[in-house]
Amino acid sequence: MRQPLVAGNWKMNGSSQSIRELLDGIVSGLESKAEVLVCPPAIYIQQAREMLSGTAVKWGLQNVSDKASGAFTGETSPLMAKDLDCKYVIIGHSERRSIFGETDKDVAAKFCALVDQGIVPILCVGETLEEREAGTTMKVVEKQIETVLQEAGSNRLGNFVIAYEPVWAIGTGLTATPEQAQEVHAAIRELLSRTDESVAQKTRILYGGSMKAANAAELMANPDVDGGLIGGASLVAEDFKAICHAAG
Ligand code: PEP
Repeated sequence: MRQPLVAGNWKMNGSSQSIRELLDGIVSGLESKAEVLVCPPAIYIQQAREMLSGTAVKWGLQNVSDKASGAFTGETSPLMAKDLDCKYVIIGHSERRSIFGETDKDVAAKFCALVDQGIVPILCVGETLEEREAGTTMKVVEKQIETVLQEAGSNRLGNFVIAYEPVWAIGTGLTATPEQAQEVHAAIRELLSRTDESVAQKTRILYGGSMKAANAAELMANPDVDGGLIGGASLVAEDFKAICHAAG
């Protein structure tokens, strides 16, 4: 039985004041059987750690370097994430791929660096609208995942999360239908089972892309949708809590 995970990706939003209010709002009255995670901008991780320690809400990063330390101006290392008790780190978000030019190999290196520090990667994958319309959704998603599986090797597949995020649904208000989401999630699980059936059965596959309170329950009711990665709606405490509640 996979426990659902609901993760908020706050992107480059917030201030110490607004983050205090948002965290207070999320923690107060939160009711969910899901594991709940927030990923604030890295500079606010310590603030999140102070406010969330001892609560049911976990904290993590939106991105990480694959290097441990050294002359990498502006980067944050997996060791630093571990030092601040991040349990999860998002990697390969479509904004990292499209704006910052991250390749599947770059993402695979981050995956390995995180696992080696005992941090759970949330590996984002997904196709653009052009790729969906060309009928290549699974080809794209398979390549994104297979590169990671190959680089990681079987020893690093004990605990990771995949987030299927169709690029055309991120921040657009367009959401995959429950059928579209389930079709890709099931295909991802089948892909994992080609490597290892037990990995396929235990790995959580989240849906992301304009998930909100109004559509969360029907998306997460699918057998292969194990929670959500939430952007915009995670910046409003009541909306995020409603999604957490819908997860069970
Ligand atoms: C995201 O950026 O991961 C995301 C899913 O954003 P939104 O919910 O705003 O579409």
